[in-house]
Amino acid sequence: MKEVKSPRKPLLYYYGIVLLMIFLFNILVTPLLSRNQVTEVDYGTFMDMIDEKQIGVVQVEDTQIIFTDKESNQVYTTGPMEDPTLTQRLHEADAQFGRVITESASPLLTWFLTIILPVLIFFGLGQYMSRKLMNQAGGKNAMSFGMGKSNAKVYVPSTQGIRFSDVAGEDEAKESLQEIVDYLHNPQKYTEAGASMPKGILLVGPPGTGKTMLAKAVAGEANVPFFSISGSEFVEMFVGMGASKVRDLFKQAKEKAPCIVFIDEIDAIGQKRNSGGGYGGNDEREQTLNQLLTEMDGFEGNTGVIILAATNRPESLDPALTRPGRFDRRVPVELPDLKGREEILKVHAKKIKTGEDVDFHTVARMAAGASGAELANIINEAALRAVRNGRVIVTQADLEESIEVVIAGYQKKNAVLSDQEKRVVAYHEIGHALVAARQSESAPVQKITIIPRTSGALGYTMQVETGDKYLMSKEELENKIATYTGGRAAEEVVFGQITTGASNDIEQATKLARAMITRYGMSDEFDMVAMETVQNQYLGGDTSLACSADTQREIDRKVVELVRQQHEKAKKILEDDRGKLDELARFLYEKETITGEEFMEILKGGEKE
Ligand code: ADP
Ligand code: ZN
Repeated sequence: MKEVKSPRKPLLYYYGIVLLMIFLFNILVTPLLSRNQVTEVDYGTFMDMIDEKQIGVVQVEDTQIIFTDKESNQVYTTGPMEDPTLTQRLHEADAQFGRVITESASPLLTWFLTIILPVLIFFGLGQYMSRKLMNQAGGKNAMSFGMGKSNAKVYVPSTQGIRFSDVAGEDEAKESLQEIVDYLHNPQKYTEAGASMPKGILLVGPPGTGKTMLAKAVAGEANVPFFSISGSEFVEMFVGMGASKVRDLFKQAKEKAPCIVFIDEIDAIGQKRNSGGGYGGNDEREQTLNQLLTEMDGFEGNTGVIILAATNRPESLDPALTRPGRFDRRVPVELPDLKGREEILKVHAKKIKTGEDVDFHTVARMAAGASGAELANIINEAALRAVRNGRVIVTQADLEESIEVVIAGYQKKNAVLSDQEKRVVAYHEIGHALVAARQSESAPVQKITIIPRTSGALGYTMQVETGDKYLMSKEELENKIATYTGGRAAEEVVFGQITTGASNDIEQATKLARAMITRYGMSDEFDMVAMETVQNQYLGGDTSLACSADTQREIDRKVVELVRQQHEKAKKILEDDRGKLDELARFLYEKETITGEEFMEILKGGEKE
């Protein structure tokens, strides 16, 4: 009998509390009221009190004897008895003969104080509280769903909104969204031309690229209200809550139109139906999704309610959601390129004081692959580092260090590597760097370090592309694989034994080799046949196989062959260049961190001789 979601429950609960309060009030108030009331006792008690000289005032009547307690002034009464010595004994007990004032409270007053008053007080309190709850829930009809609704929506007044100028980079996304802003500014222009706005727009891109920011910016630019809710919020609630939340959200949005409704993580409700699992748990999500679809179909294109939704897994969405008339427009929000990264860094750097040596271009170059959120984090980490070192001004060194913090975890200062381990790590890292430097197409080395990180990396080589690369040739990819194997190759060449330090390199090399064969069509055998398709472009890029078991075996064989080839190549490079390898490794071993320039200096230095 646990009807948690029943709307009657709060009421019952409430009445229970009122009754309890009345009870408590009575216990507390009655003694106060009965102070001057008369208590009836038997004659024996009266006699005992006389013996103990406890009687204050006594009034003997024909039908009763009224007397008071000397100390407490409590009034008592008892029936009269045939007792000739009573007067004498009372006198001896120092009792005063006189009139006892009996003030019995009027029954009406008593009744009022003990029952009516508490009821009034608690009803008043209850009314006040329920009104407050309703206000929090933000709607007149909020009570009808019980208390669970209160966090249904966040309403951000557009006046304090974000503008497009706050979102750095993402020019294409801004451009496509500009049309929405224009429409919200003057819808009649579009109505006249017979054009109707898309009802739903899907912002697609990896986490932290500013999708939420862009949605807010649209509302900010158009100066309209902004409703925001996360897809996961719909399904967290009790069963049946999700659908009613959707209904309520749209009701409110229509009242406030024109406005923007933003649904973050729409994949939480919009996943393909009947996909995977399905042990009843999906019912709730399906109901919510159906409600969303119904609502979207229900309103006309030109009501002024524009729905923006964000997802980083567009391929997992139910096709019903992306049908025309629903989320039929897709705006890609990609990871920022070099220029975008620099702009984002500059936007966030406005909040901090930067030194003269700060060069955002270099920082942006070093932070290849970072999302907007990560870049914001890099700026913040740099500011924190400055404060830790007792400074207000953030320097280039702070920024460069914080890139490593964000990318590779905090410097693990107290981790102690044995001398031999340090030597191995130094050779390993120089192995990567040297193989990279000796292959013409490889990017130059930016920084090499053998200071362990909390992420578990014992050291790493930071390679930086001079610009953003969109196309990679087969040769470049092969060189990349060779570079990955360079660390292990150096260990083999120098120490003749291998360590566990190369696990991440192995993973990367394998992934790349596999992609070359199955996805990029870079093997002779399979030509341009797609053996794998990318399932999830934005989250790790999971792939699914699309070939027979025999072919799979063949693919595996080709991958091994490809990696082995490059591994041999890397070994050859290092053997031929053993002098430089030793020199550089010794230098790194001593300095622990060396820059790309220092590396190149030593590398070139030898060649001139
Ligand atoms: P998403 O919704 O795509 O996961 P958000 O919009 O929540 O990403 O972005 C998270 C944070 O990252 C923002 O609050 C902002 O500080 C920063 N950020 C992301 N992209 C940008 C950008 N293009 N310009 C400025 N800041 C950005
Ligand atoms: Zn390595």
